Amino acid sequence: MMKLIFLGPPGAVKGTQAGIVSKKLGIHTISTGDMLRAAVKEGTEVGKRAKSFMDAGKLVPDEVIIGIVAERVEKPDCAKGYILDGVPRTIAQAEALESAGIRFDHVISIETEDDVVKERLVGRRVCPECGATYHTVSNPSKVEGKCDACGHELIQRHDDTADTVAHRLEIYHSETEPLKEFYQKRDVLAKVEDEGSIEDINHRIMAVLGL
Ligand code: AMP
Repeated sequence: MMKLIFLGPPGAVKGTQAGIVSKKLGIHTISTGDMLRAAVKEGTEVGKRAKSFMDAGKLVPDEVIIGIVAERVEKPDCAKGYILDGVPRTIAQAEALESAGIRFDHVISIETEDDVVKERLVGRRVCPECGATYHTVSNPSKVEGKCDACGHELIQRHDDTADTVAHRLEIYHSETEPLKEFYQKRDVLAKVEDEGSIEDINHRIMAVLGL
């Protein structure tokens, strides 16, 4: 049973690394961003509540997040453990998880400079159909504006525009970064530099996990 949190600013390689570690350990990654985007697409009550916050690059209220995460981690496919990606994002969310009796083995903080975040996110393009992601400079699709995997038109996420990214970074520093100290005090924090290849970073993470 391994329970992990991947912490980091938007545009850190959290999602990519969580995916790799998930496969290696045979446990799921729970991404509140993905869950919320799916809820918005389906038009559920949660989606309706979350949409305006997400489009503005603001945090969705804690009670919405705590509700969806509490429900998700109770599912049978989480019995062997899980990785949280993009949650908790506030001290209130971390305290809610702790009050629910959940303890984490490791909290991996991916350390990425603000300038790197800005460049990555503003150039990010995603396929709304299959979820594939590209970057206009570092990982362009073969045909400009079209998904390599399914041919669908690529889009820029509403929250990846320059102004919204700057705002999301501010929120990261004020609301989410204090979680490092929170988990440091519980002796589970490990900082991993966001430098080098995907494999390099993954090696550092696996070393933290003792694997
Ligand atoms: P992400 O894909 O993780 O960057 O999430 C996209 C957006 O969903 C964020 O900018 C927030 O509006 C919302 N969101 C995702 N996770 C959380 C969370 N744990 N707490 C509050 N808002 C969240």
